[in-house]
Amino acid sequence: MKEINIALVAHDGRKQELLQWIRFNHSKLSKYNLYATGTTGKLISELEIEQEGEITKPFEGKVTRLLSGPLGGDQQIGAMIAESKINMLIFFCDNLIVQGHQNDVSALTRLAALYNIAFATNRTTADMLLTSTLIDDTDYEIKLPDCIASYANRSLGK
Ligand code: PGA
Repeated sequence: MKEINIALVAHDGRKQELLQWIRFNHSKLSKYNLYATGTTGKLISELEIEQEGEITKPFEGKVTRLLSGPLGGDQQIGAMIAESKINMLIFFCDNLIVQGHQNDVSALTRLAALYNIAFATNRTTADMLLTSTLIDDTDYEIKLPDCIASYANRSLGK
């Protein structure tokens, strides 16, 4: 892919897990453009990492923060996916509780699947996405599924 634009979202019950994943993958992630829902983005920006005895905040000022998820941030990311501005979504959903903004969660995961972006909802898959050789293959392009063109060109009768 020519440019990697990654959206990061975690529900409250999984924010620490996302931060652990980011800590583990921080050098890889620092090569890409990062977007996040409001609170997730704040925590990523503030994340402290110790390297060679020094504490740094590698993502300070490097994450584009959108609105908080329940306040429209999930929908902002969904719109960016539909406009081909996001090509990877790491979304750690809390599957043990129903969210007040469950409709937004469903809409976002639906668009991630529909537009065929790289999409992980857990750490193992997220690790595998980031270690894929395709991520740095500039010839690799996300293909939109045929159903999108079929839908756009559907017959509406007379
Ligand atoms: P938050 O949103 O990062 O602003 O907490 C996450 C979510 O979509 O619930």
